[in-house]
Amino acid sequence: MIRPDQLLRETERGLWCEPGGFFIDPMRPAERALVTHGHADHARAGHARVLATPETLAIMAARYGEAFTPDPVPVAYGERLKIGEVDVSFHPAGHVLGSAQIRLEWKGLVIGVSGDYKRRRDPTCAPFEVFPAHVYVTEATFALPVFRHPDDGDEIAKLLTSLQQNPDRTHLVGAYALGKAQRLICLLREGGYDAPIHIHGAMEQLCALYEDHGVDLGPLAKATLKDGEGTRQDFAGKIVIGPPSSFQTAWARRFSDPVISFASGWMQVRARARQRGVELPLILSDHADWDELTQTIRDIDPEEVWITHGRDDALARWAELEGYKARPLSLVGYEDEDD
Ligand SMILES: [Zn+2]
Repeated sequence: MIRPDQLLRETERGLWCEPGGFFIDPMRPAERALVTHGHADHARAGHARVLATPETLAIMAARYGEAFTPDPVPVAYGERLKIGEVDVSFHPAGHVLGSAQIRLEWKGLVIGVSGDYKRRRDPTCAPFEVFPAHVYVTEATFALPVFRHPDDGDEIAKLLTSLQQNPDRTHLVGAYALGKAQRLICLLREGGYDAPIHIHGAMEQLCALYEDHGVDLGPLAKATLKDGEGTRQDFAGKIVIGPPSSFQTAWARRFSDPVISFASGWMQVRARARQRGVELPLILSDHADWDELTQTIRDIDPEEVWITHGRDDALARWAELEGYKARPLSLVGYEDEDD
Protein backbone atom coordinates (compact mmCIF):
# COMPACT_ATOMS: atom_id res chain seq x y z
CA MET A 1 0.00 0.00 0.00
CA ILE A 2 1.26 3.42 -0.97
CA ARG A 3 0.87 6.11 1.64
CA PRO A 4 0.02 9.62 0.39
CA ASP A 5 2.98 11.11 2.27
CA GLN A 6 5.30 8.99 0.12
CA LEU A 7 4.11 11.07 -2.84
CA LEU A 8 3.74 14.48 -1.19
CA ARG A 9 4.66 15.87 2.18
CA GLU A 10 5.08 19.19 3.89
CA THR A 11 8.56 20.48 4.65
CA GLU A 12 9.91 23.78 5.92
CA ARG A 13 10.38 24.85 2.31
CA GLY A 14 6.90 23.89 1.15
CA LEU A 15 5.15 20.84 -0.31
CA TRP A 16 7.78 18.32 -1.45
CA CYS A 17 7.20 15.51 -3.94
CA GLU A 18 9.93 12.95 -3.35
CA PRO A 19 9.36 10.61 -6.34
CA GLY A 20 9.13 13.64 -8.64
CA GLY A 21 12.00 15.56 -7.08
CA PHE A 22 10.14 18.87 -6.96
CA PHE A 23 8.48 21.37 -4.66
CA ILE A 24 5.08 22.98 -5.19
CA ASP A 25 5.09 26.75 -4.48
CA PRO A 26 8.33 26.58 -2.47
CA MET A 27 9.02 29.46 -0.11
CA ARG A 28 12.76 29.33 -0.72
CA PRO A 29 14.85 28.85 -3.87
CA ALA A 30 14.54 25.27 -5.15
CA GLU A 31 16.10 23.17 -7.91
CA ARG A 32 12.70 22.41 -9.39
CA ALA A 33 9.54 24.35 -8.52
CA LEU A 34 5.99 23.80 -9.73
CA VAL A 35 4.14 27.08 -9.25
CA THR A 36 0.34 27.22 -8.99
CA HIS A 37 -0.08 30.96 -9.70
CA GLY A 38 1.58 34.33 -9.76
CA HIS A 39 0.76 35.79 -6.33
CA ALA A 40 3.94 36.63 -4.48
CA ASP A 41 3.43 34.19 -1.61
CA HIS A 42 3.26 31.27 -4.07
CA ALA A 43 5.52 32.44 -6.89
CA ARG A 44 8.95 33.44 -5.68
CA ALA A 45 12.00 34.31 -7.71
CA GLY A 46 15.27 32.38 -7.66
CA HIS A 47 14.33 28.77 -8.50
CA ALA A 48 16.70 26.92 -10.87
CA ARG A 49 13.72 25.65 -12.89
CA VAL A 50 10.07 26.73 -12.81
CA LEU A 51 7.22 24.74 -14.29
CA ALA A 52 4.00 26.75 -14.53
CA THR A 53 1.32 27.77 -17.00
CA PRO A 54 2.51 30.19 -19.70
CA GLU A 55 0.39 32.92 -18.08
CA THR A 56 1.98 32.39 -14.67
CA LEU A 57 5.46 32.45 -16.20
CA ALA A 58 4.57 35.74 -17.93
CA ILE A 59 3.31 37.18 -14.63
CA MET A 60 6.50 36.13 -12.83
CA ALA A 61 8.63 37.69 -15.58
CA ALA A 62 6.61 40.91 -15.30
CA ARG A 63 7.01 41.07 -11.53
CA TYR A 64 10.56 39.83 -11.06
CA GLY A 65 12.19 40.42 -14.45
CA GLU A 66 12.99 37.86 -17.16
CA ALA A 67 15.85 36.47 -15.03
CA PHE A 68 13.46 35.20 -12.32
CA THR A 69 14.64 31.72 -13.29
CA PRO A 70 17.21 30.52 -15.83
CA ASP A 71 14.86 27.72 -16.88
CA PRO A 72 11.15 28.52 -17.25
CA VAL A 73 9.10 25.55 -18.53
CA PRO A 74 5.58 26.39 -19.74
CA VAL A 75 2.92 23.76 -19.09
CA ALA A 76 -0.50 24.18 -20.72
CA TYR A 77 -3.68 23.26 -18.87
CA GLY A 78 -4.33 19.54 -19.33
CA GLU A 79 -0.88 18.73 -20.75
CA ARG A 80 0.53 15.55 -19.19
CA LEU A 81 4.17 15.46 -18.13
CA LYS A 82 6.36 12.87 -16.49
CA ILE A 83 8.58 14.40 -13.82
CA GLY A 84 10.77 11.79 -12.21
CA GLU A 85 8.35 8.94 -11.59
CA VAL A 86 5.27 11.16 -11.32
CA ASP A 87 2.61 12.01 -13.90
CA VAL A 88 1.85 15.72 -13.54
CA SER A 89 -0.79 17.98 -15.06
CA PHE A 90 -2.07 21.51 -14.40
CA HIS A 91 -5.80 22.30 -14.30
CA PRO A 92 -7.61 25.66 -14.03
CA ALA A 93 -8.20 26.94 -10.47
CA GLY A 94 -10.39 29.96 -11.32
CA HIS A 95 -8.35 32.20 -8.99
CA VAL A 96 -6.41 34.59 -11.27
CA LEU A 97 -5.11 34.49 -14.86
CA GLY A 98 -3.07 31.30 -15.33
CA SER A 99 -3.86 29.90 -11.88
CA ALA A 100 -3.69 26.13 -11.66
CA GLN A 101 -4.42 23.19 -9.46
CA ILE A 102 -1.72 20.55 -9.82
CA ARG A 103 -2.58 16.88 -10.25
CA LEU A 104 0.02 14.28 -9.26
CA GLU A 105 -0.30 10.59 -10.07
CA TRP A 106 2.13 7.91 -8.90
CA LYS A 107 1.57 4.17 -8.68
CA GLY A 108 -2.18 4.62 -8.95
CA LEU A 109 -2.40 7.28 -6.24
CA VAL A 110 -3.76 10.71 -7.25
CA ILE A 111 -3.21 13.87 -5.21
CA GLY A 112 -4.73 17.21 -6.25
CA VAL A 113 -3.16 20.42 -4.94
CA SER A 114 -5.56 23.34 -5.20
CA GLY A 115 -3.31 26.35 -4.83
CA ASP A 116 -5.72 29.24 -4.28
CA TYR A 117 -9.07 28.84 -6.00
CA LYS A 118 -12.66 29.94 -6.33
CA ARG A 119 -15.70 28.42 -7.98
CA ARG A 120 -17.70 31.42 -9.06
CA ARG A 121 -17.41 32.84 -12.55
CA ASP A 122 -14.52 35.20 -13.25
CA PRO A 123 -14.32 36.89 -16.67
CA THR A 124 -10.52 37.14 -16.39
CA CYS A 125 -9.56 33.48 -16.09
CA ALA A 126 -10.48 29.90 -16.95
CA PRO A 127 -13.08 28.28 -14.64
CA PHE A 128 -12.13 25.80 -11.91
CA GLU A 129 -11.97 22.24 -13.16
CA VAL A 130 -13.03 19.31 -10.97
CA PHE A 131 -10.98 16.11 -11.21
CA PRO A 132 -11.14 13.04 -8.98
CA ALA A 133 -8.33 12.53 -6.45
CA HIS A 134 -7.58 10.28 -3.50
CA VAL A 135 -6.17 13.20 -1.57
CA TYR A 136 -7.15 16.83 -2.12
CA VAL A 137 -5.01 19.63 -0.72
CA THR A 138 -7.25 22.66 -0.31
CA GLU A 139 -6.70 26.24 0.76
CA ALA A 140 -8.85 27.54 3.63
CA THR A 141 -8.61 31.34 3.55
CA PHE A 142 -12.34 31.85 4.14
CA ALA A 143 -13.11 28.51 5.79
CA LEU A 144 -15.65 29.60 8.36
CA PRO A 145 -19.41 29.20 7.87
CA VAL A 146 -19.83 32.98 8.36
CA PHE A 147 -17.93 33.63 5.14
CA ARG A 148 -20.40 33.69 2.30
CA HIS A 149 -19.38 36.00 -0.49
CA PRO A 150 -22.32 37.96 -1.94
CA ASP A 151 -23.17 38.24 -5.62
CA ASP A 152 -20.44 40.12 -7.56
CA GLY A 153 -22.98 42.09 -9.56
CA ASP A 154 -24.58 43.47 -6.38
CA GLU A 155 -21.19 44.68 -5.11
CA ILE A 156 -20.44 46.40 -8.43
CA ALA A 157 -23.90 48.01 -8.33
CA LYS A 158 -23.00 49.58 -4.95
CA LEU A 159 -20.00 51.27 -6.53
CA LEU A 160 -21.95 52.47 -9.57
CA THR A 161 -24.76 53.82 -7.37
CA SER A 162 -22.28 55.70 -5.19
CA LEU A 163 -20.76 57.24 -8.32
CA GLN A 164 -24.15 58.53 -9.38
CA GLN A 165 -24.91 59.88 -5.93
CA ASN A 166 -21.50 61.53 -5.47
CA PRO A 167 -20.62 62.95 -8.88
CA ASP A 168 -18.11 65.41 -7.40
CA ARG A 169 -16.07 62.87 -5.50
CA THR A 170 -13.28 60.60 -6.70
CA HIS A 171 -14.00 56.93 -6.06
CA LEU A 172 -10.68 55.57 -4.91
CA VAL A 173 -10.82 51.77 -4.90
CA GLY A 174 -8.14 49.57 -3.36
CA ALA A 175 -7.58 46.28 -5.17
CA TYR A 176 -4.65 43.90 -5.40
CA ALA A 177 -2.62 44.48 -8.54
CA LEU A 178 -2.73 40.88 -9.74
CA GLY A 179 -6.18 39.51 -10.40
CA LYS A 180 -8.50 41.60 -8.26
CA ALA A 181 -7.89 44.85 -10.14
CA GLN A 182 -8.51 43.28 -13.56
CA ARG A 183 -11.58 41.39 -12.35
CA LEU A 184 -12.99 44.56 -10.81
CA ILE A 185 -12.48 46.39 -14.10
CA CYS A 186 -14.15 43.59 -16.12
CA LEU A 187 -17.10 43.47 -13.72
CA LEU A 188 -17.51 47.24 -14.00
CA ARG A 189 -17.61 46.88 -17.80
CA GLU A 190 -20.24 44.14 -17.46
CA GLY A 191 -22.17 46.51 -15.20
CA GLY A 192 -22.32 48.99 -18.08
CA TYR A 193 -19.53 51.36 -17.00
CA ASP A 194 -17.67 52.32 -20.17
CA ALA A 195 -15.82 55.50 -19.16
CA PRO A 196 -12.03 55.42 -18.75
CA ILE A 197 -10.93 53.82 -15.47
CA HIS A 198 -7.85 55.38 -13.91
CA ILE A 199 -5.19 53.01 -12.63
CA HIS A 200 -2.17 53.47 -10.40
CA GLY A 201 1.18 53.12 -12.20
CA ALA A 202 1.94 49.89 -10.31
CA MET A 203 -0.96 48.22 -12.11
CA GLU A 204 -0.20 49.24 -15.67
CA GLN A 205 2.10 46.34 -16.49
CA LEU A 206 -0.22 43.63 -15.19
CA CYS A 207 -3.26 45.20 -16.86
CA ALA A 208 -1.34 45.22 -20.15
CA LEU A 209 -0.39 41.59 -19.57
CA TYR A 210 -4.02 40.61 -19.07
CA GLU A 211 -4.97 42.43 -22.27
CA ASP A 212 -2.17 40.61 -24.12
CA HIS A 213 -3.80 37.38 -22.95
CA GLY A 214 -7.18 38.34 -24.39
CA VAL A 215 -8.84 39.94 -21.36
CA ASP A 216 -10.49 43.15 -22.60
CA LEU A 217 -10.36 45.85 -19.91
CA GLY A 218 -11.80 48.73 -21.97
CA PRO A 219 -10.35 52.25 -21.80
CA LEU A 220 -7.76 52.72 -19.04
CA ALA A 221 -6.02 55.96 -18.10
CA LYS A 222 -3.26 56.98 -15.73
CA ALA A 223 -4.14 58.08 -12.21
CA THR A 224 -1.21 60.43 -11.90
CA LEU A 225 -1.07 64.19 -11.89
CA LYS A 226 2.29 65.79 -12.37
CA ASP A 227 2.84 69.19 -10.78
CA GLY A 228 1.19 71.94 -12.75
CA GLU A 229 -0.60 69.46 -14.96
CA GLY A 230 -4.34 69.51 -14.44
CA THR A 231 -6.09 69.96 -11.14
CA ARG A 232 -7.61 67.79 -8.50
CA GLN A 233 -10.97 68.23 -10.14
CA ASP A 234 -9.78 66.02 -13.00
CA PHE A 235 -10.71 62.93 -11.01
CA ALA A 236 -14.07 64.11 -9.68
CA GLY A 237 -16.69 61.50 -10.49
CA LYS A 238 -14.03 59.10 -11.75
CA ILE A 239 -13.02 55.63 -10.64
CA VAL A 240 -9.38 55.38 -9.60
CA ILE A 241 -7.96 51.95 -8.72
CA GLY A 242 -4.76 51.56 -6.72
CA PRO A 243 -3.05 48.76 -4.81
CA PRO A 244 -3.81 48.76 -1.06
CA SER A 245 -0.24 49.84 -0.26
CA SER A 246 -0.71 53.05 -2.25
CA PHE A 247 -3.42 54.25 0.12
CA GLN A 248 -0.83 55.11 2.77
CA THR A 249 1.19 57.25 0.37
CA ALA A 250 1.10 60.83 -0.87
CA TRP A 251 -0.44 59.51 -4.08
CA ALA A 252 -3.77 58.79 -2.37
CA ARG A 253 -3.86 62.12 -0.54
CA ARG A 254 -3.91 64.19 -3.69
CA PHE A 255 -7.48 63.24 -4.55
CA SER A 256 -9.97 65.71 -3.17
CA ASP A 257 -12.70 64.38 -0.90
CA PRO A 258 -12.41 60.79 -2.14
CA VAL A 259 -14.84 57.99 -1.42
CA ILE A 260 -12.47 55.37 -0.04
CA SER A 261 -13.43 51.92 -1.24
CA PHE A 262 -11.74 48.55 -1.03
CA ALA A 263 -12.45 45.35 -2.95
CA SER A 264 -11.69 42.30 -0.83
CA GLY A 265 -13.27 39.24 0.67
CA TRP A 266 -12.26 40.62 4.06
CA MET A 267 -14.65 43.53 3.63
CA GLN A 268 -17.41 41.30 5.02
CA VAL A 269 -15.66 41.77 8.36
CA ARG A 270 -16.93 45.21 9.36
CA ALA A 271 -14.11 45.81 11.81
CA ARG A 272 -11.54 45.40 9.06
CA ALA A 273 -13.32 47.89 6.84
CA ARG A 274 -13.51 50.39 9.70
CA GLN A 275 -9.87 49.84 10.60
CA ARG A 276 -8.84 50.72 7.06
CA GLY A 277 -11.09 53.77 6.96
CA VAL A 278 -13.15 52.27 4.16
CA GLU A 279 -16.35 54.15 3.43
CA LEU A 280 -17.53 51.85 0.64
CA PRO A 281 -16.54 48.21 1.27
CA LEU A 282 -16.88 45.91 -1.75
CA ILE A 283 -16.95 42.22 -0.90
CA LEU A 284 -15.10 40.76 -3.84
CA SER A 285 -12.88 37.77 -3.22
CA ASP A 286 -10.71 35.58 -5.42
CA HIS A 287 -10.91 32.77 -2.86
CA ALA A 288 -13.58 30.17 -2.31
CA ASP A 289 -16.05 30.98 0.46
CA TRP A 290 -17.37 28.39 2.92
CA ASP A 291 -19.98 27.05 0.50
CA GLU A 292 -17.49 26.82 -2.35
CA LEU A 293 -14.91 25.03 -0.19
CA THR A 294 -17.35 22.43 1.08
CA GLN A 295 -18.93 22.01 -2.37
CA THR A 296 -15.49 21.42 -3.86
CA ILE A 297 -14.68 18.70 -1.35
CA ARG A 298 -18.01 17.05 -2.09
CA ASP A 299 -17.44 17.35 -5.85
CA ILE A 300 -13.96 15.83 -5.69
CA ASP A 301 -14.97 13.35 -2.99
CA PRO A 302 -11.42 12.42 -1.94
CA GLU A 303 -10.54 9.94 0.78
CA GLU A 304 -8.44 12.55 2.56
CA VAL A 305 -8.50 16.34 2.71
CA TRP A 306 -5.32 18.20 3.54
CA ILE A 307 -5.81 21.83 4.48
CA THR A 308 -3.35 24.68 3.98
CA HIS A 309 -3.10 28.31 5.06
CA GLY A 310 -6.26 29.58 6.62
CA ARG A 311 -8.92 28.53 9.08
CA ASP A 312 -8.00 24.88 8.87
CA ASP A 313 -9.72 23.80 12.12
CA ALA A 314 -13.27 24.56 11.02
CA LEU A 315 -12.86 22.93 7.63
CA ALA A 316 -11.10 19.89 9.13
CA ARG A 317 -13.97 19.43 11.59
CA TRP A 318 -16.56 19.77 8.83
CA ALA A 319 -14.69 17.23 6.66
CA GLU A 320 -14.47 14.71 9.49
CA LEU A 321 -18.18 15.04 10.22
CA GLU A 322 -18.81 14.38 6.52
CA GLY A 323 -16.70 11.22 6.69
CA TYR A 324 -13.48 12.47 5.11
CA LYS A 325 -10.13 12.00 6.78
CA ALA A 326 -8.81 15.52 7.36
CA ARG A 327 -5.36 16.83 8.09
CA PRO A 328 -4.31 20.47 8.57
CA LEU A 329 -0.84 21.06 7.11
CA SER A 330 1.59 23.21 9.01
CA LEU A 331 2.88 25.21 6.07
CA VAL A 332 4.20 28.65 6.85
CA GLY A 333 4.78 31.59 4.58
CA TYR A 334 1.47 31.88 2.74
CA GLU A 335 -0.19 35.20 3.34
CA ASP A 336 -3.22 36.97 2.06
CA GLU A 337 -1.61 39.00 -0.66
CA ASP A 338 -4.67 38.35 -2.68
CA ASP A 339 -7.75 38.41 -0.52
ZN1 LIG B 1 -3.43 33.70 -4.68
